[in-house]
Amino acid sequence: MSGVSPAVVAPLLEWYDGGHRDLPWRAQPTPYRVWVSEIMLQQTRVEAVRGYFARWMDALPDVRALAAADEAVYLKLWEGLGYYSRVRNLHRAAIEVCDKYGGELPADYDALRALPGIGDYTAGAIASIAFGLPVPAVDGNVLRVAARLDNDLTPITDTAFKKRTRERFAALMPADRPGDLNQSLMELGATVCLPNGAPLCGDCPVQHLCLGYHHGNAAMLPLRAAKKARRVENRTVLLRRHGALVGIQRRPQSGLLARLWELPSLNGHLSPDEVRDALAAHGWQVGKLLSLRPAKHIFTHVEWRMNGYYIELKNLPDELTFVSPSALRAEYALPSAFRAFLSVLEEQA
Ligand code: SF4
Repeated sequence: MSGVSPAVVAPLLEWYDGGHRDLPWRAQPTPYRVWVSEIMLQQTRVEAVRGYFARWMDALPDVRALAAADEAVYLKLWEGLGYYSRVRNLHRAAIEVCDKYGGELPADYDALRALPGIGDYTAGAIASIAFGLPVPAVDGNVLRVAARLDNDLTPITDTAFKKRTRERFAALMPADRPGDLNQSLMELGATVCLPNGAPLCGDCPVQHLCLGYHHGNAAMLPLRAAKKARRVENRTVLLRRHGALVGIQRRPQSGLLARLWELPSLNGHLSPDEVRDALAAHGWQVGKLLSLRPAKHIFTHVEWRMNGYYIELKNLPDELTFVSPSALRAEYALPSAFRAFLSVLEEQA
């Protein structure tokens, strides 16, 4: 019985060698591909990332191409993945890699860690998988596996627990296969040692070493500290049409969804008459006005509860940008929060 210890290395590597998921970024694990895939995979499911990753690599195949790309291009490639600070940091880091390292990611954990948007986990993943450096890559999946292997009741959001786990895995890294050990842990967390009380311990290569399993605690681990409630914002989203065109605007320079395009909205849940009055006060003449199905979107710290209206305008004050639905789809990065309100355009197409 041993928890996180050198004894887990051999069975994990053997299990990993026996078969693992076929992921496109594993086929050619160049530093750039590992980096982009790991950033995309933060907060996003593997299946959702596959298509994004393929389109990204077609359009921006290396660090130099990313560094030279226009904001509109990389935001569009990221459209729908959310957490847009990730893609902005990718671009900033690519410029820095070109300036400082000649367009090649540095084969050094600390230098990787110092780049925008690269934290301990991503630096560890790139360093170990692409460069073969013996450093751990500890994300939420690996923390969960560690808490269960050790039967550790500390909440996994605890900073000291994270630090301790990184140090313990750092001490296990085999000099010849650090990337494979990290990937075996990721694979175990993603396919066997599943979250939310559902580990498949019967299929686990390290069950005989797992203290959580032997104490009957595997399903209830890891413990989590109570979450802070999200702030709820009620909004009224306006899908404004003028002829075939749709009115959109840029979001502010900073803050949530900064500089992305949006369907404009008003604070609160407004009645049709209140919407007509609010638009009239700004010089808009409203023709047809129809309610759209409400939608909800959850961000990390805030939840939008949105009502929506489809509005046909009789005039065109110089306030919004009006574009065709096809241009909106092809050229403008619109966060998925607004997608529910665009389905009416598809129905009309
Ligand atoms: Fe996770 Fe179960 Fe394996 Fe322990 S035995 S590491 S809880 S899958």
